[in-house]
Amino acid sequence: MTDPGRPSFPEYDQLLALLELGAPWFRSRVACEVAVDGRSFGVHVAALGTDAPDAPAIGIFGGIHGLERIGTQLVLDYMRSLLCRLQWDELLHRELQAVKLVFMPIVNPGGMHAATRANPRGVDLMRNAPQNADARVPFLAGGQRLGAWLPWYRGRAGAPMEPEAAALLRVVEEELLGRPLSFAVDCHSGYGWRDSIWFPYARTHTPMAHLPEMYLLKTMFEQAHPHHGYAFEPQSHQYLLHGDLWDYAYDRAPAGTLFLPMTLELGSWLWIKKNPRQLFSRAGIFNPIKAHRTARVLRRHVSLFDFLGRTAFAPERWLPEGVHRQQLLAQARAHWQDRKPAP
Ligand SMILES: [Zn+2]
Repeated sequence: MTDPGRPSFPEYDQLLALLELGAPWFRSRVACEVAVDGRSFGVHVAALGTDAPDAPAIGIFGGIHGLERIGTQLVLDYMRSLLCRLQWDELLHRELQAVKLVFMPIVNPGGMHAATRANPRGVDLMRNAPQNADARVPFLAGGQRLGAWLPWYRGRAGAPMEPEAAALLRVVEEELLGRPLSFAVDCHSGYGWRDSIWFPYARTHTPMAHLPEMYLLKTMFEQAHPHHGYAFEPQSHQYLLHGDLWDYAYDRAPAGTLFLPMTLELGSWLWIKKNPRQLFSRAGIFNPIKAHRTARVLRRHVSLFDFLGRTAFAPERWLPEGVHRQQLLAQARAHWQDRKPAP
């Protein structure tokens, strides 16, 4: 699995070091192995907190697109921060007695090693689930089956999902779905002027079944962190996609459970505007280059992860029911439908 004789990449080495350092706390395993350039990388999963099968759980994912290193760094930073806090933070210990955290910081190590968006076989993992969008998707970028020589390749029709995508979905299935409450946050970068949180669907303009819960979560977060300013919206408000893994996972959550997947998309266009030289570096389009900007990007999102932990600790305090849920549904529709761009 680890082969110190061959070149690795910094995020991978940091992850291995963290898992070793955090071994008494992190329960880690390898979800699948990926070979590239004559070496094998593990897709590592680490769990923290309670093992009770019905406890609320939060999955934090990164590195699905190999070029988007900042997302992986965000997850690694948060894991590191939790490890340090475990030394003194009794409230965190209490939270972890009731909540499970699951980390998968480098879903596509082969792509990150080779500095490609796709996996080593040229497949865009976030286009690799079998379902199709029900309306027009952007040319190529919405997912294409022309070939791996073009970006956004979905893989062959009818072929099994790529090992990394299948491993992610297995982790979601085993660790998140089926619990009364679970969240997923998947960290990406590159699209937009500002940071966005997208939720299903990417395949259709039809709203997800848990729009009231998503709207309430957004409202609670904005009230707790009033100056934050994520653009919080269904992915379909930006563009439709074939093969989105979170659509696929959301549709597989058993009835009577609540699974809320979110994609954190760190908007990079402002980084580029402030530092146009980034346009000439492939890594620079997806990652802030100046150290102060990287630090600002990294510190900005810890509050979101902490917030989800706090909401997961006592869902009975906020989960809406009955008339309240109906009212939230009406508010959510008014909020998002009014802003929906014309199809
Ligand atoms: Zn991405």
